[in-house]
Amino acid sequence: MKKYNFNAGPSILPREVIEQTAAACLDFDNSGLSLMEISHRAKNFQPVVDEAVALFKELLNIPEGYSVLFLGGGASLEFCMVPYNFLEKKAAYLNTGVWATKAEKEAKAFGEVVEVASSADKNFTYIPKNYEIPADADYLHITTNNTIYGTEIREDIDCPIPLIADMSSDIFSRPVDVSKYTMIYGGAQKNLAMAGLTFVIVKDEALGKVTRHIPTMLDYRTHVKKGSMFNTPPVVPIYSALMNLRYMKAHGGVEAMAKLAQERADILYAEIDRNKLFVGTAEKDSRSLMNITFVLKDEYKELEKDFLDFATSKGMVGVKGHRDVGGFRASCYNAMSIEGVQALVACMQEFEKMH
Ligand SMILES: *Cc1c(COP(=O)(O)O)cnc(C)c1O
Repeated sequence: MKKYNFNAGPSILPREVIEQTAAACLDFDNSGLSLMEISHRAKNFQPVVDEAVALFKELLNIPEGYSVLFLGGGASLEFCMVPYNFLEKKAAYLNTGVWATKAEKEAKAFGEVVEVASSADKNFTYIPKNYEIPADADYLHITTNNTIYGTEIREDIDCPIPLIADMSSDIFSRPVDVSKYTMIYGGAQKNLAMAGLTFVIVKDEALGKVTRHIPTMLDYRTHVKKGSMFNTPPVVPIYSALMNLRYMKAHGGVEAMAKLAQERADILYAEIDRNKLFVGTAEKDSRSLMNITFVLKDEYKELEKDFLDFATSKGMVGVKGHRDVGGFRASCYNAMSIEGVQALVACMQEFEKMH
């Protein structure tokens, strides 16, 4: 049976990206060696990093003066690297979910933290609006897509102070005006590559402004200077990212990805809103195009396990909601086909008929 991978992360990748990475793991660049056993300083690996950086800049239209880094440690390490490198006295955080809360918590060890707004009062079902950004803060940190709660900030907000964004789960799903950000980062395992890689886009001139000592590995300048080769980078994940960057370019770039994301989300949200059994958890104007969260209406709550079993029997994978929200979550990253979303909708309709 065909499986449809709705996992939140690590998550679906285009089949050809997986096949090309697997092939390179057996024989990299006709060298007779595996990608797993070559040096990151091998002559034929540097072009992989160079092309990945170039495609990153091309696809996201990154202006001059920004560096693209490939690091380890996950988005979670960035939660502390961001204040290490940018927080001198005070930082502002927008709290829109578990990941945003974790980022904010790390910053508190480095200075004063102002929470400009929070949607914790309604279990993060919406994106706060009309909050005040302190003009004297070193930066504002936002999480553009809240993977767990299914809410998303899908435009590049105007911010009077340096803006730093965790885009782990919506990078490459839309065009981004990178010039509005001082830094963008994320774990690659949602919409870019296999697990094990962190991407960072950082404005060079914003670095080196804090007075504290920064450990070498945690100082972005180290990685800018060494082109992500200060120490051994995650070689295989970088290769898988390159394959996906090539794939996205060949398939129309981020404009095409955004169109597909909208199409998928329109289909699934329309069914959630129509179907008598289900209700969406995020407020409509805050809905994510990437992670679509829904639950059974109160009067049908006891059917939760039945629907999961039913959906699983039809080939749906990973639609169980996060424990903080319950119900269901269909993660619809770039590689999810319209057909996959239609298959899930068919499941929901068939299940509705049974009840
Ligand atoms: C998954 C996720 C993270 C955590 O990423 P790791 O790479 O596992 O540290 C952080 N932020 C967001 C928005 C995420 O979706």
